[in-house]
Amino acid sequence: MSADVDARNDDTGDLKPFDPKRKKKRACAPVYLEPQIYTYDEMLKMFYAKCPDAAIQTFKLPPPTLAIHGPHTCWMNFTKICAGLKRDQVHVMGYLRTELGLKEMSITDRGLVYRGKTKERDLESLVKKYAAEYVTCRACRGINTRLERKNRLLFLTCVCGSKTRVEDI
Ligand SMILES: [Zn+2]
Repeated sequence: MSADVDARNDDTGDLKPFDPKRKKKRACAPVYLEPQIYTYDEMLKMFYAKCPDAAIQTFKLPPPTLAIHGPHTCWMNFTKICAGLKRDQVHVMGYLRTELGLKEMSITDRGLVYRGKTKERDLESLVKKYAAEYVTCRACRGINTRLERKNRLLFLTCVCGSKTRVEDI
């Protein structure tokens, strides 16, 4: 009977010799901080400090450079602009085709080629519109986002956790 009790004591550690480390740990009482109220900006700052990936970035997009070949236009730095937007060229082209009302449009080695005449300024503002719709996060305004398709619906998801449904092209 007494042997049983001893064994149990050993298991629970109740009769173990004094351990200064353990004692120290126990002596450390939990610290309760005063509840603090943060402003939205302060919270955002703290969030970015913890998640630098989500920090607001700005686009570094060059203005469109065009070459006219008879009735056709070649947008020569189209690939570069899509890379800057981090979006699929086919998706950007689909958007431009709808916005410009042009049917003939194709991605070639030289750039985006289409039949018709466009102004650089108009294309630049279309790129900005595209970015506002399909790249910039609605919640944090960051551009570290991606497009995701779920159940046929298109969503813009961000590293900040925001998820917004966007229009299909
Ligand atoms: Zn975000």
